[in-house]
Amino acid sequence: MKKPFLRRLAEDHSQRIRAWVQWSFLALNVWIGVQFWLFVRHYETAGATVLVSRPAGVEGWLPIAALMNWKYFFETGSLPRIHGAGMFLLGAFFLISILLRKSFCGWLCPVGTLSETLWKAGRWALGRNFAPPRWLDIPLRSLKYVLLGLFLYAVGSMSAPAIRTFLEGPYGLVADVKMLNFFRHMTITVAVVTGLLAVASLFIPNFWCRYLCPYGALMGLGALLSPLRIRRSPERCIDCAKCAKECPSLLPVDRLVQIRSAECLGCMRCVAVCPAEEALVLGAPRRRKIPATALAAAMLAIFMGTYVWANAAGRWKTELPPQMYYNLIPRAHEFGHP
Ligand code: SF4
Ligand code: SF4
Repeated sequence: MKKPFLRRLAEDHSQRIRAWVQWSFLALNVWIGVQFWLFVRHYETAGATVLVSRPAGVEGWLPIAALMNWKYFFETGSLPRIHGAGMFLLGAFFLISILLRKSFCGWLCPVGTLSETLWKAGRWALGRNFAPPRWLDIPLRSLKYVLLGLFLYAVGSMSAPAIRTFLEGPYGLVADVKMLNFFRHMTITVAVVTGLLAVASLFIPNFWCRYLCPYGALMGLGALLSPLRIRRSPERCIDCAKCAKECPSLLPVDRLVQIRSAECLGCMRCVAVCPAEEALVLGAPRRRKIPATALAAAMLAIFMGTYVWANAAGRWKTELPPQMYYNLIPRAHEFGHP
């Protein structure tokens, strides 16, 4: 039984729910950024500005430190003292990927949200987006795995004592301040590269995420284990190809029975536009349909559960004496990579 297209669209709330989740998470990151900037300014001005507490969530922007902490934990069985929140956030997002596909990228990541805004703006202005030819697309897509491999190799070849020395040295302690400085005092080169990536994102959906993001590559590998998939019923499908046209990952949704690709973001855009009832679902094994509300609730539960647990265990915050911050933060630019 097929319902009219407009009625189906009116009934599907997945994209409204996803937009709420995406923009709430972006707002959370902006709030963390402002809090952290105020925290840093206090120490840079020798206490002349208001002191706010350091938001540990800023460590979500330190994926290399998070990987180091995981390596340290696997090697020693001990939880690290420095940048623990980054480690827990990476763990939570990877767990989300394993259970719920690459929905971290499609629902939570602020960079993904901004990328999506750009390609939608590009489509609005130009009437369409573009896809590179397959011979170019495939090698470009492999770049993010190459970058991930390099990071994993670099971190994997460090011993636990070397990781501890790194993270507890001046550079490691203010890695978050250096990250802030990277955005705050952007060099011309960084500004030009960022501008080029933004322009490319207007034409090609999720340019950064699709080709270059090693964090997304890691989430994609986790998603290969996920029991959730977009599943198409060939009996119900009317072969309109709307799903494939709407897919930001450029997947041939209309020609497959299930989407196993590591590129699938679990965004449910394909499900939202499908005019044939139940032809396309986000489904668990045996085609049990997972609604967008359940997906969002599961993500939130994993995210909040991780925060509450790590906080209760006293492992969420990096606690350093204020004098150390007074010494290190104003000199953050002096510390080079060891
Ligand atoms: S297949 Fe569907 S859920 Fe996956 S990325 Fe494409 S539109 Fe999103
Ligand atoms: S599954 Fe895709 S091709 Fe089939 S009816 Fe739905 S949108 Fe059209």
